[in-house]
Amino acid sequence: RIAYVNGRFVPHRDAAVHIEDRGYQFADGVYEVVPVFYSQLIDEDAHLDRLERSLSELRIAMPKSRQVLKMISAEVMRRNQLTYGFLYMQVTRGVAPRDHKFPKAAKPALVMTVRQTKPHTSEQLEKGIKVITTPDIRWQRRDIKSISLLPNCLAKQEAVEAGAAEAWLVEGDGTVSEGSATNAWIVTADGKLVTRKADHLILSGITRLSLIEAAKAAGMEFEERPFTVEEAYAAREAFLTSSTNLVMPIVQIDDTPVGNGHPGMLTMRLRQLYIDYVTADPAT
Ligand code: PMP
Repeated sequence: RIAYVNGRFVPHRDAAVHIEDRGYQFADGVYEVVPVFYSQLIDEDAHLDRLERSLSELRIAMPKSRQVLKMISAEVMRRNQLTYGFLYMQVTRGVAPRDHKFPKAAKPALVMTVRQTKPHTSEQLEKGIKVITTPDIRWQRRDIKSISLLPNCLAKQEAVEAGAAEAWLVEGDGTVSEGSATNAWIVTADGKLVTRKADHLILSGITRLSLIEAAKAAGMEFEERPFTVEEAYAAREAFLTSSTNLVMPIVQIDDTPVGNGHPGMLTMRLRQLYIDYVTADPAT
């Protein structure tokens, strides 16, 4: 495997950054995960838009122009012969003597790696996944795709120890913000597709955005509003979205089966709509 680190393509096992990189010391950086199907990056521009926005919110300069970032990502994919999986991009504020305030001279550090994975099997999809709920203890700027993910790691670990695949994070008012690494959706008991509005309390998922576009293009209605854990327990269907899960059916929330305890029909239709939407040839 080959990684890109600050201007060089290096064997993955030797890829390293300096111990005084502010990413290592302060989690002072941001990242993106871009899905790859059929050797193609999915929604690359939307991911680069979000990267640019995250960086500007933290006042870190773009390490390279968008065009150069695209050239590097294509080269990392080519060198690894990536066909299905994802590309990881990380930008930190760079190397400087440890001090909380922004360094004057640091140069942003850029890392790109890829991982080959396998598409979910139909057995996995038919089984669906379980989620647990846990308090959302994160900061107030969850719209920034920061590499500071300790609360997310704690929540995910709690889920795994409870035999679940994801944790839904719950605000003080009882509404679900999002998953530890995914956006949360339900189909209410009366059949409405609901997901939270992308404000500063959640990450604006690119999968979420494309699914909304795909659903609109198919003439489907949806509501952008918070929903409570109680509403989710009573929901007909539930699912999550992310670059690595695409659209994944949820069959149990805490101890409560969702609907009849099997993946929902609308969820599976949305999964297919999403895949068709992002893999459609833009020229046709
Ligand atoms: N919320 C959080 C907290 C995440 O970490 C992620 C995935 N990085 C998402 C939502 C989903 O975003 P995307 O669809 O862009 O992968």
